[in-house]
Amino acid sequence: MPLTVKVDLELCQGHSVCLSECPAVFDVVEHDDGYPQVVVLQETPDDALRDQVLAAARYCPNHVITVVED
Ligand code: SF4
Repeated sequence: MPLTVKVDLELCQGHSVCLSECPAVFDVVEHDDGYPQVVVLQETPDDALRDQVLAAARYCPNHVITVVED
């Protein structure tokens, strides 16, 4: 089943848990305003990354990661 990853940047506070759980899909970068935020590197990651992507969504402190399983 394909995965689609979405994040709500309004609520992301740059904790980097997502990056720790799944660095192939999530990066966290500083923005011009000085705050770090998530960048989704792959919006439709390979199924092999499913467990890591789901862990990132589960452990994101702000619950801003949505994973849609089509
Ligand atoms: S763990 Fe959640 S709040 Fe933190 S950078 Fe990742 S998406 Fe944003």
